[in-house]
Amino acid sequence: MEHYADQYIGGGWRPAAGPDTIVVLNPATEQPIAAVPAGIAAEVAAALAAARAAAPGWAASSREERLAALTRLRDGLAAHRAEIAATVTAELGTPAGFADAVQAGTPIAVASAYLDVLADYAFHEKVGNSTVYAEPAGVVAAITPWNYPLHLIVAKVVPALAAGCTVVLKPSEETPLIARLFARIVDGAGLPPGVFNLVTGLGTVVGAALAAHPGVDVVSFTGSTAVGRAIGESAGRGIKKVSLELGGKSASVVLPGADLARAVNVNLANVFANSGQTCTAWTRLLVHRDQYEEALAIAAASAAKYAPGDPADPATQVGPLVSARQRERVREYIDGALADGARLVAGGPGAPEGLDRGYYVRPTVLADLPPDARAVQEEIFGPVLVVLPYDDEEHALALANGTEYGLAGAVWAGDEETAAAFARRMETGQVDINGGRFNPLAPFGGWKNSGVGRELGRHGLEEFLQTKSLQF
Ligand code: NAD
Repeated sequence: MEHYADQYIGGGWRPAAGPDTIVVLNPATEQPIAAVPAGIAAEVAAALAAARAAAPGWAASSREERLAALTRLRDGLAAHRAEIAATVTAELGTPAGFADAVQAGTPIAVASAYLDVLADYAFHEKVGNSTVYAEPAGVVAAITPWNYPLHLIVAKVVPALAAGCTVVLKPSEETPLIARLFARIVDGAGLPPGVFNLVTGLGTVVGAALAAHPGVDVVSFTGSTAVGRAIGESAGRGIKKVSLELGGKSASVVLPGADLARAVNVNLANVFANSGQTCTAWTRLLVHRDQYEEALAIAAASAAKYAPGDPADPATQVGPLVSARQRERVREYIDGALADGARLVAGGPGAPEGLDRGYYVRPTVLADLPPDARAVQEEIFGPVLVVLPYDDEEHALALANGTEYGLAGAVWAGDEETAAAFARRMETGQVDINGGRFNPLAPFGGWKNSGVGRELGRHGLEEFLQTKSLQF
C-alpha cells in the first residue's frame, strides 16, 4: 500500500500540511490500496494563492500557447491510457473493458474536442459600435465526484485552462488516485506553476472551504443535488459564477413502432454500465401498456447476462459499487421497492452469488411500482432499472417529466422525426434518439434539480469566461 503525503500546489508536490489521511479501498476486495492527505483549510488557501498569482500570466497567454500546452496535456492523457484505466478499476471497481473504453477513452476525446473549440472560438466580436470580449473569469474551484472520476476532472479543468483561468481541483475522497495521476500528467505537460493545483481531502473540509473562499471566482461542481444546493448557496453569498452538474432520474421512452428488443437491451446495458453509477443513466424505462409484459420478458432474459464479477477480469461487465455506503444505499432502495409492491423481474436483495466480499449488489429490474414510489422518483445510483407502463403519448410525457430531475433521457421510435418531436417536449438537458452516440462537442447539463450551467463544447468553455464590452 502506497502512502502519499503531498499535494500538488504551485507547480510541484508539497508536503501535506495536515496530519490526517484518507485510506482508499479497492471496492472489489475491500483491501486498502493507498492513503492520501486529508487536506486542510491552510492548503486550500495556499493553492488559491498559487492559482491567483498565476492567473494574470495565464490569462495573458495567447491562444497558440494554450493550444500547445493543452495538446501536450491531451497527449499525456493518451500516453497514460492503460494506467488511467487500471487506476479507475482499482479505486472505483469499473470493469477493465469499460474502464479503457469510457473511463480513459472519454476524457481523451473530450480533451481533443476542447482543442478544436479553443482553435475556433471567437474571443471578441464587433456588435455595432462595441467590441465585446470574452475574458478569462479568474480562479476556478473544480469539485468532482467519483463515478467518472477522470472524465469529470477533464470536463472542468481543460475548458477552464483553455479559457485562460487557473484552477484548484478537489476530487472525490473515494477516487483521489486518478486525480493524483492527472496532476502528474499536467506536471509533465509543463504548464506554468500555479495554473493547476490539486488538494485532496474531505468535501466538508476542502470542498466547503473552496466554495466559500473569496479567492475563488468560479465554482464548477459535479455531484449530488444535496451538496450542489449547499455549494450554490455558498457561492451565491460570494456572488461567484457557479455551475452545478447534479443528479438524474432519466426516462427512456419506447414509443409504439420502435424496435422494442433493441431498446430494452440497450437500456439494460446503459443502466448496468459502471454498476449504475452514471448520472445520465436511463433508470426509468417507459413502454406502452400493450408491450409491457413483452418488454419485461426481454428485460429478464437480458439481465441474466450481467453477472457481477472481478472488475480486473476483461470478461466482467458489472463490477462492485464504489463503497460499502453506496452498497447499503442501493440495497435499501431494492428492499424498499419490494415493500412498496414491486414485481422483481431480475436481481433482487442481497449479494450476488459467490460474492460476499466486495461491494456488490445484484443487477435488478423492477416492475409494477406506482409512479410516486421512491425507487421511481429518487436517484438510486446503482444497477437498478424501473419499468413503467404508459397508456398514450401524453401519459408517457407526464411520466417522463414527472420527477424533480431533468438531466438526460432517451426516446425510441420507428423513425427519428417522431422520436425527436417527443424529445423536444421533455424537460431535460439531452436526449438520445434511438440509442444516440456520445458527442464531446454537444452541451451537457441539467434542467430542474439536475443543475445549472453546461459542460462540453463551446457552452462548456463559456462557463469560464466573463463578458466585457467596449463602446467606441
Ligand atoms: P457528492 O455530492 O457526495 O460529492 C461530490 C463532490 O463534492 C466530492 O468531491 C465531495 O467531496 C464534495 N463535497 C461533499 N460535501 C461537500 C460540501 N459540503 N461542500 C463542498 N464540497 C463537498 O457526490 P458523489 O457521491 O461524489 O457523486 C455522485 C453524485 O454525482 C450523483 O448524484 C450523480 O448523479 C452526480 N453526478 C452528476 C453528474 C452530472 O454531470 N450531472 C455527473 C456525475 C455524477
